[in-house]
Amino acid sequence: MSKATLNIVLLGTGTSTGIPVVGCRCNVCRSTDKRNQRTRCSALLNYNGNNLLIDTATDLRQQALREDIRHIDAVLYTHCHADHVHGIDDLRGFNVHDGNPIPLYATSETLTSLHKNFSYIFDQHQPSGYVPRLTLHPIEGAMNLFGLEVIPIPLHHGKQPATGYRCGPFAYLTDCNRISDSSLTLLEGLQLLVLDGLRFKPHPTHFNIPEAVDIAQSIGAKQTLLTHLSHDVDHAHVDANLPDGINLAYDGQRFSFEIQLQNSDENCYEN
Ligand SMILES: [Zn+2]
Ligand SMILES: [Zn+2]
Ligand SMILES: [Zn+2]
Repeated sequence: MSKATLNIVLLGTGTSTGIPVVGCRCNVCRSTDKRNQRTRCSALLNYNGNNLLIDTATDLRQQALREDIRHIDAVLYTHCHADHVHGIDDLRGFNVHDGNPIPLYATSETLTSLHKNFSYIFDQHQPSGYVPRLTLHPIEGAMNLFGLEVIPIPLHHGKQPATGYRCGPFAYLTDCNRISDSSLTLLEGLQLLVLDGLRFKPHPTHFNIPEAVDIAQSIGAKQTLLTHLSHDVDHAHVDANLPDGINLAYDGQRFSFEIQLQNSDENCYEN
């Protein structure tokens, strides 16, 4: 065991359209408050020189340039909806700087969908250099990634499953509208919870803000940030009216925590 700093950057906090929404002239889409300008949902975890990316959002290139991300050591996928995966081709840029393929971790269902939807990447008909070099790793339980314990959290996203992740004091639960009791037991003692909270109106596959506030209060993290926000949500107005300890997330928001790393075995991709 050794101590390290876990640095978290919220790369994107917007719903699937991104905010502003193309063609929309509403007050939030026209707002000059940077916190109302939201790219698609993703987060970066940095520790001991390693960069773990959660999802390859549609806006990955823009996020990587904005945050000066120069390498990616692994990707954790939450599920296979377009807004969370369509930046996958932009991983090619990171291959250029690093000779190794990038390992992708996801449930076997998500890996099957990735393979099917991006067969040009995984069926290797293209000469190398034209497609990202990626390897697929099914998640079967808690993993040790470069010394960091990563605990998958099964979530309900309407009728589909999605996967959240807990890493020490931090959990990232986007795209969900129900959390089972067995998953809730994995979320005790958190410092920071990032949780889906789309908008005020109900939605069939996402927590709305009142539902997210309820579940956040029962999870009891020291701080909760709502993400996957739509253009119904004006940052300043809504944030000021949330209960203590619950806020809206915004793009580029950063956090750091002291954590304990485990011994990292030589092949730390699975255990
Ligand atoms: Zn989404
Ligand atoms: Zn709008
Ligand atoms: Zn989704």
